[in-house]
Amino acid sequence: MKVLSVASEVYPLVKTGGLADVAGALPLALKEQGIETKTLLPGYPAVMQMLEKPVECLALPDLLGEKARLLAAHCKGLDLLVLDCPALFERAGGPYLDATGTDYTDNWKRFAALSLAGARIAEGALKGFRPDLVHAHDWQAALTPVYMRYGAAHAVPSVLTIHNIAFQGQFGPDIFPALHLPPHAFAMDGVEYYGDVGFLKGGLQSASAITTVSPSYAREILEPAFGMGLEGVIAARANALYGIVNGIDAETWDPATDPMIAAPYSAANLKGRARNRAALADHFHLDHDDGPIFSIVSRLTWQKGMDLIPAVVDDILSRGGKLAILGSGDSALEGALLSAAHSHRGRIGMVTGYNEALSHLMQAGADAILVPSRFEPCGLTQLYALRYGCVPVVARTGGLADTVIDANHAALQARCATGIQFSSVSVEGLKQALHTVFALYADKKLWTHIQKQGMKADVSWNRSADRYAGLYSSLIQKTA
Ligand code: ADP
Repeated sequence: MKVLSVASEVYPLVKTGGLADVAGALPLALKEQGIETKTLLPGYPAVMQMLEKPVECLALPDLLGEKARLLAAHCKGLDLLVLDCPALFERAGGPYLDATGTDYTDNWKRFAALSLAGARIAEGALKGFRPDLVHAHDWQAALTPVYMRYGAAHAVPSVLTIHNIAFQGQFGPDIFPALHLPPHAFAMDGVEYYGDVGFLKGGLQSASAITTVSPSYAREILEPAFGMGLEGVIAARANALYGIVNGIDAETWDPATDPMIAAPYSAANLKGRARNRAALADHFHLDHDDGPIFSIVSRLTWQKGMDLIPAVVDDILSRGGKLAILGSGDSALEGALLSAAHSHRGRIGMVTGYNEALSHLMQAGADAILVPSRFEPCGLTQLYALRYGCVPVVARTGGLADTVIDANHAALQARCATGIQFSSVSVEGLKQALHTVFALYADKKLWTHIQKQGMKADVSWNRSADRYAGLYSSLIQKTA
């Protein structure tokens, strides 16, 4: 089976969030099932720099009016097709935002071009690779199934994965002519969205199947509270909707071999954790004492519940806890957390910005990680935490609810608990969860058991890759 995956970020080439991890890891897991995936992504400067011996494989002299070409390259086991289009992607800022943190005004064109290139490949434009199925990720690639549906690749099945429905790619109707779609695509069952052009909306109407990254989130986005305006569209396609939990790259994230942590360890022998804990405390200038170290590795946003943290600082510190924060995002939240760190030196440490290596040490050294998200399609940090014996303390929503087994009375009796869940995402809810954490942490034997139980959980891609492979096969069979 040949699959084309289309994504705007792919680890390890370019990453701003969980989408990159999935787009980078799923093809590798599918390879073991005999599925050949090529991954199409934009040629941002950071991507172009990482390519070794790229080969031009398709000229696209007029891609929405821009001169472009596809480069074939390999990187860390991935078969890449890089869309080299300097007018759209050769920029000094990030994938979506300029150096001042503002959306590029032509993001619609940048990602329509990516999607159109995907559709061209689906049509068979690339010599030697005609995909049996196209898998597009998030709004940035969501026009791929749209271009396929209204073009020559309408018979090729497609899957659109929603990693976060909050990001929809909605633009004014004035861009529609420049998308080069037929006029009838600007309709309710096409890309028209409340008078605007909706990239994700159009993709949801056009893809053969829709997946999202956990069964709970698949149910939640049918409701107005989580559907962000698209709940009606999703409900109309509910019979084509699947929830498949993400896995993690269990090789990169393995405490027994991870070169980014201070000392290796495993579930069988947790001894090395103490050295990671000490290294973490040093890095964040935290006191070396027995109180639990809580960590946060997150975008600092309202979605992630980061506004709750300043309100629970006293609860953490008054019981001897400490807090290590790694994140960046909303400047007001960043400021509030930095100010808490300044007021409580030795007890709260904070590093702003994005730091992949430090995020590994945090999973290896912290006792518990706080993930109080208001919504969380899947969440990856809690999966890394499980693998590293860092007990996840999570809101009961989306993928967090699906991947962490709450240490309630029954689960403790059955000895299957892997973390702590709390259901009202509020200061009170989080305080209650912290209360539980301190009680469990005080019982060292029990705490170690919860850590080890988490480390035993299968958070790899194996099961999820099986489910994607099954879905791909059924869609291909249906269209055969
Ligand atoms: P989202 O994609 O919504 O941001 P996820 O939990 O699905 O949330 O994925 C976030 C990913 O980004 C994880 O791999 C997490 O470790 C990583 N991450 C988030 N913030 C940082 C940071 N400041 N430094 C390093 N890694 C981070």
